[in-house]
Amino acid sequence: MFNALREWIGHLEESNKIAKIEKKVSTEYELAGVTKLFDGEKACLFNHVDDFQMPVLSNVVYDRESIAESIGVQKEDLRNKFLESMDKPVKCEMSENVPRFKDHIITGNDIDLLKLPIPIHHEKDGGRYITSGLLIVKDINTGKQNVSIHRLQVFNKNEMGILILPRHLWHIFSQYEKEKKELDIAICIGNAPALLLASQAITPYGIDELEIANALLDNMLKLSKCETVNVDVPENCEIVIEGKLIPGLRKEEGPFGEFPRYYGPAGNRPVIKVTAVNYRDDAIYHTILPGTKEHLLLGGIAREASMIRTIAHTVPTVRDVHITFGSSCRYHAIISIKKEHEGEGKNTILAAFSNSHEIKQVIVVDEEIDIFDHDSVEWAVATRFQAGKDMIVVKGSLGSKLDPSSDQGISDKIGIDATLSINRDPDKFNVMTIPGLENMAKEDYI
Ligand code: MN
Repeated sequence: MFNALREWIGHLEESNKIAKIEKKVSTEYELAGVTKLFDGEKACLFNHVDDFQMPVLSNVVYDRESIAESIGVQKEDLRNKFLESMDKPVKCEMSENVPRFKDHIITGNDIDLLKLPIPIHHEKDGGRYITSGLLIVKDINTGKQNVSIHRLQVFNKNEMGILILPRHLWHIFSQYEKEKKELDIAICIGNAPALLLASQAITPYGIDELEIANALLDNMLKLSKCETVNVDVPENCEIVIEGKLIPGLRKEEGPFGEFPRYYGPAGNRPVIKVTAVNYRDDAIYHTILPGTKEHLLLGGIAREASMIRTIAHTVPTVRDVHITFGSSCRYHAIISIKKEHEGEGKNTILAAFSNSHEIKQVIVVDEEIDIFDHDSVEWAVATRFQAGKDMIVVKGSLGSKLDPSSDQGISDKIGIDATLSINRDPDKFNVMTIPGLENMAKEDYI
């Protein structure tokens, strides 16, 4: 497992899984374009970005295997390792060393966010966006930290706009805003993949995502204090931007190309005033291009883990969950169960809808169907499903506001139960087989 971004880069180099781009590329669209070309295949390290000294990394993880590898497990064990870490977070110790990200500490009038190689990704984006920063804050009462990733639009040298959806950070900020207090925040860029994955964990309020990351990393994660704000950050990160969320202040942010691969609209959003920028001597800037495998899979894996838990309360024989890339790793779930009772397919659908408001379509199949193989799933739907009796439609429930086909988030949902009936006529569903095929290999015949 890898406890620092540069350790992970070293591993990618050894396994020839990183494209090193020496050609000079522009932060305006070109860097995004090259990242897109390698999406799902390789990481990209851009060594010459405009006239910046700092290199830029993208596609840090690019498929399920690479995410599993980054935390030192096989792909099949990724979900369990993630669930174990969510169940047993491990408190992070403070580092005794001066962290390398304090090689340079920029404060006051010297702060200039535009000196960082922050790209413009998509055509209609409102400006330069930081997309990979772990935003860390402390709870006003308990002092527990919370970690989340937000889109951050650079407004000028020391101001950023931020989109905060009604989740944990919103909860914390709204308490500070009521009391007209500034909220200390730190934005950490250039982290080990384990930290990015942990930041996506779906947890009750009050769980510190860094402690989940520390569990994923077998207690290797150490924290360091910031310079100008009361926040503790991973000692190994490359760049730390410190600042304050200002109560009552809103400025226009957006539009921004979002995870469903459409632009999210502009609107009046909270503002961060930057109080310090810290970075290593040879810091690497990390950007996440929205809509790529890197962006979507990190959230998808966390959502699958949460969903299988919810379904297991109702259908203990649930086997596996796949929230598909085609649905931006948010909207469509394919679920396999070992059906033991008539009706469990429908209960699985209801449980999946109850897990997340984002889920719009659920397909339930029997355990022998490979839910990561779309042909296999389609075959089950084609031969085991009848719309009149096996389909559920829920009209007018809450869905994702970013789904442009919804009415400001009001969305219909469909459930497809493609499991075999327990009481079926076995002669009608006799799947054909070739005896001995499983032991045959092409090489033995050519
Ligand atoms: Mn949280």
